[in-house]
Amino acid sequence: EKLIYYFSQSNCEGNAAMRNLLGGKGANLAEMCNIGIPVPPGFTISTAVCQAYCQDNELSCDLRNEIKNYMAMLESDIGCKFGDSNNPLLVSIRSGSVNSMPGMLDTVLNVGLNDATVVGLAKKSGERFAYDSYCRFIMMYSSVVLQLDHHLFQDIVDSEQQKSGAKSLADLNVDVLKKIVNDFKEIVCEKTGKHFPQNVEEQLLNSVNAVFASWKNDRAVSYRRIHNIPENLGTAVNVQAMVFGNLNDNSATGVIFTRNPSTGEKKLFGEFLVNAQGEDVVSGVYTPMPIDGEQESTMEKLLPSVYRELCAVCEKLERHNKDMQDIEFTVQDGKLWILQTRSGKRTAEAAIRIIVDMVEEGAITKEEGILRIDPKTFDNLLHPVLDVKIDQEVIGKGLPASPGVASGYVVFSASDAEKAAEQGKKVILVRSETSPEDINGMNAASGIVTARGGMTSHAAVVTRGMGKPCICSLNGLYIGKDEKFLSMGDIKVNKGESITINGGTGEVMLGILPTILPELSQEFKTIINWVDEIKTVKVRANADTPKDAKIAKEFGSEGIGLCRTEHMFFASDRIEFIQKLIIADDENERTNALNKLEEMQKSDFKEIFSIMEGREVTIRLLDPPLHEFLPHNQSIIEKIAKSLNKSVESVKNKIAQLSEKNPMLGHRGCRLAISHPEIYGMQIRAILSAASELRKEKKIEVKPEIMIPFIMSEKEFILICELIKKEAENFDVNYSIGTMIELPRAALIADKLAKHAEFFSFGTNDLTQTTMGLSRDDSVNFLDSYKESNIFKNDPFEVLDVEGVGELIRIAIERGKKTRKEIKLGICGEHGANPQSIEFFIKSGVDYVSCSPYRVLVAKLVAAQLSI
Ligand code: PEP
Ligand code: MG
Repeated sequence: EKLIYYFSQSNCEGNAAMRNLLGGKGANLAEMCNIGIPVPPGFTISTAVCQAYCQDNELSCDLRNEIKNYMAMLESDIGCKFGDSNNPLLVSIRSGSVNSMPGMLDTVLNVGLNDATVVGLAKKSGERFAYDSYCRFIMMYSSVVLQLDHHLFQDIVDSEQQKSGAKSLADLNVDVLKKIVNDFKEIVCEKTGKHFPQNVEEQLLNSVNAVFASWKNDRAVSYRRIHNIPENLGTAVNVQAMVFGNLNDNSATGVIFTRNPSTGEKKLFGEFLVNAQGEDVVSGVYTPMPIDGEQESTMEKLLPSVYRELCAVCEKLERHNKDMQDIEFTVQDGKLWILQTRSGKRTAEAAIRIIVDMVEEGAITKEEGILRIDPKTFDNLLHPVLDVKIDQEVIGKGLPASPGVASGYVVFSASDAEKAAEQGKKVILVRSETSPEDINGMNAASGIVTARGGMTSHAAVVTRGMGKPCICSLNGLYIGKDEKFLSMGDIKVNKGESITINGGTGEVMLGILPTILPELSQEFKTIINWVDEIKTVKVRANADTPKDAKIAKEFGSEGIGLCRTEHMFFASDRIEFIQKLIIADDENERTNALNKLEEMQKSDFKEIFSIMEGREVTIRLLDPPLHEFLPHNQSIIEKIAKSLNKSVESVKNKIAQLSEKNPMLGHRGCRLAISHPEIYGMQIRAILSAASELRKEKKIEVKPEIMIPFIMSEKEFILICELIKKEAENFDVNYSIGTMIELPRAALIADKLAKHAEFFSFGTNDLTQTTMGLSRDDSVNFLDSYKESNIFKNDPFEVLDVEGVGELIRIAIERGKKTRKEIKLGICGEHGANPQSIEFFIKSGVDYVSCSPYRVLVAKLVAAQLSI
């Protein structure tokens, strides 16, 4: 079995298709070599080795030998020798997993330096540079391989910097650097009881070992959990000849995106640092300079010919990989080297714009574009923005690193963020800079603010991927001693006080500010048009009120699949009327309540029909599980008693009499109308008169779909159909009658129901509840144990149970169609927007799915992706 793959421009054993074996970085390095991009040569140890390593916790003998062979190849390729004190080869050891896990796994740079080789390097490339590199190497190796606390070393650097007034390592002179090297070695000796390893082979193998081991570190495990990355994939390890961005002032290191990762604009977007190593840019410790633009110090101005070469490389890589690239580069003494390329992380807005632009540029097809969209990305675009009408006093400004608005209490540590989130509190995590250690806290926080770091710093990249607002390098931000407060000039905010951040503008405001829904961009609308062209099922919305209907239409809903008429009475000034209806003692009281309700319903229906402008609207007749509506509160009971001219006592008695032990299976849905037909009679009149008036007044033709809930027998359905037809005699309105399928019995007798029903709508919430015998309201308490015990993979109220509930749906469709070939079929339970469930619904042949208005777009996208 082949364990290692070589890459250089003249000899390359891998390519982009070998991602599973070589990891993302390794496969891309190989591919770049294949297409003639200047990449420092090296080799990739495959992910299969990591899987073996995770079992044995050591590198096999075969692998050690292979590494030796490949090092020899590398030595002859570039003409210097590993461990040679005259002309030493130095290598970097980097992780490279199949799915990108930015900053989570370890890296060791400058491997191969020791007391002898540093002298050789000094002769070749200058003393200051050699000792700078040696310092960095000891620091990194000690923390990654020897597992010593990074601060032990950083403190020494900080104190030397302070002594000589230097701003960074790059400003320290050789003598100080030599002293630091000695201090570092002493610390290593003191803490480990051994000298810092001088044997370069040992350095190499231990570094490879440590990078494989980092697959199992806590932050990487958390990251995989959050991003659903399988544990068993493993990482590859790339061993590559070092090139030096810290050689002299004609050297640099940087990161560049081929398009703007925040907006998607087709324009290079990058940062670089002169005379520095790669880690300096991404760590966020130094604030880098832009690649081009107005500023004085840009790469375009400082290193013009390398800048032009870099632009050409960017174009070539983007064209070749057909996607926006995130590229790491180093300039060593005027020569450009590309260290990495990958598809760049981007905001939701940028993702959409890039897809639309690339389709229009002819780089990808519409279908390819649509398949690339992550349904979550779509969701992110529907995030709220600040209401501009509200006065917002800006107390600080920084880099707009990841867009969106978030409000919450200020905390200063990842662990505080986690604790607060566990208590359901929203927090903004404020840090000097973030590191991969903070990943759980960042996940828990609603937004992130940092004092240092640029647009490609850890905080910026990670939050963009999470779709979370972030501001970096907030101007003048000072985090108080003991992390009790932050200040910016005169403004002080204590831990626990709230702020609002706008990651799109970089602005910080005090307090929790109100937000509104954003306007959708032109590109977004283009995508929706493509989605509509491609998808084969309709997507409707569950909308109960005119307000919902408006939102549904804005989000492109193709109709209303479920209007839950009892929800029209949830408003506080309306609920008493439905309560009066429920507790009415006689015909007279019931008629009074009904008259009031009819007025409200008719006007709501009229508005809804008018908003939907002739699109299909399914109105479900009342289905009030009584417990949701019965009054419990003493003052409301008193109010109702008073207005009905009854004693509080008698109202209470009535409530007690009506209360059910098992209301979900009680006197609900059509059962209510079997005992009180006048209730549905009122609703039918409200629906039909609304439709009839609308036609006269606005010339809008509506054909209401009247839907009967909770049907279990053909007789029930026949009785209610008769009721509807009788009322309809008084109106000249076109309508259709259908049923919900929410009970297993209804599914089984679908052939009989279809004799009368023109459509079926599957109420998968109740159908799941009644098929599985699982309470919609109470099962959350034990579903976790079911998931842990692997009885359920998912919550069946979120992802449809295809095996059981799905089988009933399949049976109902088959039997229903046998009787009525053209029967219209829809889904209106919560599963209607769940991507996995939509796949099943489409395969089953439904005409539409219906879901909450905010989820319409996601459902449409998924429907389109499944139709390709
Ligand atoms: C259902 O049961 O799936 C349904 C849509 O109806 P409700 O949620 O109102 O019971
Ligand atoms: Mg239901």
